[in-house]
Amino acid sequence: MAEAAPRPTDPAGDRPLRVAIVGAGPVGLSLALQLRQLGIDAELQVFDAQPDAQAGRADPRVLALSEGSRQLLQSLQAWPRDAATPILRIHVSQQAAGLASLPRVLLQAEEAGLPALGYTVRYGDLLQALQSAAQAAGVQVRHGCTVRLQPQAQGAWLCDAQGEALLPQAVDLAVLAEGGAFHNQTQRALHRDYAQTALIGQLRCERPHQGLAVERFTAQGPIALLPRGADYALVWCVAPRQAQDLLQDDPAAQLRALQPQLPAVCGRALELRLAGSYPLGLNARLRTREGRVVQLGNAAQTLHPVAGQGLNLGLRDSAALARVLRGVGVQGLEGALRAYDLARLPDRAALLGLTDLLARGFTWNQPGLPLLRAGALGLLAGASPLRRALQRRMVFGWRFS
Ligand SMILES: Cc1cc2nc3c(=O)[nH]c(=O)nc-3n(C[C@H](O)[C@H](O)[C@H](O)COP(=O)(O)OP(=O)(O)OC[C@H]3O[C@@H](n4cnc5c(N)ncnc54)[C@H](O)[C@@H]3O)c2cc1C
Repeated sequence: MAEAAPRPTDPAGDRPLRVAIVGAGPVGLSLALQLRQLGIDAELQVFDAQPDAQAGRADPRVLALSEGSRQLLQSLQAWPRDAATPILRIHVSQQAAGLASLPRVLLQAEEAGLPALGYTVRYGDLLQALQSAAQAAGVQVRHGCTVRLQPQAQGAWLCDAQGEALLPQAVDLAVLAEGGAFHNQTQRALHRDYAQTALIGQLRCERPHQGLAVERFTAQGPIALLPRGADYALVWCVAPRQAQDLLQDDPAAQLRALQPQLPAVCGRALELRLAGSYPLGLNARLRTREGRVVQLGNAAQTLHPVAGQGLNLGLRDSAALARVLRGVGVQGLEGALRAYDLARLPDRAALLGLTDLLARGFTWNQPGLPLLRAGALGLLAGASPLRRALQRRMVFGWRFS
């Protein structure tokens, strides 16, 4: 690719960094905004494969964002407040036949000392808020560029799909925030096919949600109900074959299949509208960087959506990278990238492990396991210090200090 790309002309002195962000999704844009806001002296270029800003906003996903993510987005003037629904309580339970009484865990914002445990936002509304903030901050995004990389010892060339150089010079740092599309997924250090498909849609239930979110573990996969306006946003994980069948069913049949899986706390399900499906897998790198190329967000780790952690983690990646780049020129870049990789290790490792365990652990069918899982939920339901510690980690992430 890009055989004719010109060679870099600048000597590597301690000049401002040339940085390119590949992918103007939520993670790439939040990084661009933080670099601007922290006054990082970088020549910044942002590219996205979508033909225009509007195209990415059609994504029907509803995301649960933590209070920590809200604070970050708010500080970037990119919090879509009017489009967000607060999550005040989370009800966690498992569906297990044969166990007389099953423990359930109730996480509450009040107990965690927070205004809300999180908020639900449509992907498109969040993207629009970030795009507006980026425009106001003078961040230009070049849409319609499906970027390919040509890494060099001291930087990287960016090329288009035909191999033509997109910039007249190599950049010192290429940040991949392309959601994981860039690399052949099988080359990842950690790869797992969950053999689950997430069906997403909108569900109306008999009882008003009053800020309640529901996480229900079933033998097929987890089900999440997220308060969204007057209804719930549904993420229903089932085997791929069952997902295909359900998508061809009429809404009444879909509702009949879902109802027995739900806990009583949300009342009878009244109306279901499925809106799309996503195959689920784990794709992650142990290291987030190779030379002068850094991955963050879904490009570094694509997780199972159980517990709604992927974007929260990606936003914390972006905050950590912006922090280490502050005041750094070309000379200090190597050390800054090493610090970034190390700083992100505990948070990424904890959530990779936790989501992987939750995604699979409740589908295992060995004798005694339902009882063990009930014991774990019972422990969490009973021990409020443990519950509080977990709540804070889910909101603000895992750190060394
Ligand atoms: C069903 C489902 C439910 C989820 N629920 C939650 C939740 O509740 N909470 C949560 O935190 N997370 C959730 N997630 C995860 C969340 O959606 C992702 O973590 C998040 O979208 C990642 O953002 P990103 O910016 O890294 O990547 P993306 O959102 O994928 O954006 C990547 C961008 O890069 C662009 N791009 C791709 N390839 C190229 C290229 N070659 N060149 C240039 N640009 C390129 C794309 O056009 C896109 O704009 C969920 C995921 C799924 C599937």
